[in-house]
Amino acid sequence: MQTTPLTKNDYKGSPSTLCTGCGHDLISTQISNACFQLGIHPFDVAKISGIGCSSKLPAYFMSQSFAFNSMHGRMAPVATGAKLANPQLKILGISGDGDTASIGIGGFIHLIKRNVPMVYIVANNGVYGLTKGQFSPTADPHSPRKTGEIFLHDTLDLCTLSLELGCGFVARSFVGNPAQFAKVLQKAFEHPGTALIDVLSPCITFNNHNESTKSYPYLKAHEVPMAETAPFADPLQAIAAIRESYRKGEILTGLFYSQPEGPTLPEKLHSPARPLSEMGVDNLRPNQQKFEMMMEEYLA
Ligand code: SF4
Repeated sequence: MQTTPLTKNDYKGSPSTLCTGCGHDLISTQISNACFQLGIHPFDVAKISGIGCSSKLPAYFMSQSFAFNSMHGRMAPVATGAKLANPQLKILGISGDGDTASIGIGGFIHLIKRNVPMVYIVANNGVYGLTKGQFSPTADPHSPRKTGEIFLHDTLDLCTLSLELGCGFVARSFVGNPAQFAKVLQKAFEHPGTALIDVLSPCITFNNHNESTKSYPYLKAHEVPMAETAPFADPLQAIAAIRESYRKGEILTGLFYSQPEGPTLPEKLHSPARPLSEMGVDNLRPNQQKFEMMMEEYLA
């Protein structure tokens, strides 16, 4: 175990291979900074991701932390398992709008309902960047792709969905507003349950054109940062404010709602505080007598 004081270098990762100017690189920088400032040791963090440009992010910060790059849309169940296997780890989930709002939406919903203690970041750019810019479910209605096709559906708003599901910490940030994002991130790490941050993070290559509603210029022109932190005592008020802002063509950002809603999943399950890896076989496996009783129940 390292005993010398940690420096910022201990929070670095491999050089990024993302496109130059991709918003996601600003997310990794902010995560490194927040963990350094909060004194979170890299050894105490598990970075879990799915598939997509966003899910490559864990490689670019905190190389000494645990990491698991799972399958497409499967960050949520893997993160849930990691937390239960070792409740002492701080779980940091990194996903994208395609990874979470499409293929991973079932896992996302259950993770929020279960209140898994973790920070869940969605790097949201409205497209599948890794497969050349197809629409994701968080695209805005009538917004065109770079190639001209129009998105025909309503947007799926992960913040209002999380509030509906009872999430105790819901925020939206924009990488072009790093000061606000840094504050939100620090608070997310301090939250006892699931902390969801939907981070608007433009795809410079496929969704930064003049007609895009997820481009740097559009987001800069339409972002309305909240002056107050978590101003809503009622999730329904937060939902109404987000919807009203969207109706006016604005993008409300900030920490919408923060209440330590409990209990968390490990509390509900009365799961042990010790990591499973530190327990002996006697604690992890039923003895012969219990095993035979279980088998009798199955056969009854
Ligand atoms: Fe980022 Fe888009 Fe490039 Fe992917 S394709 S790395 S999302 S800019």
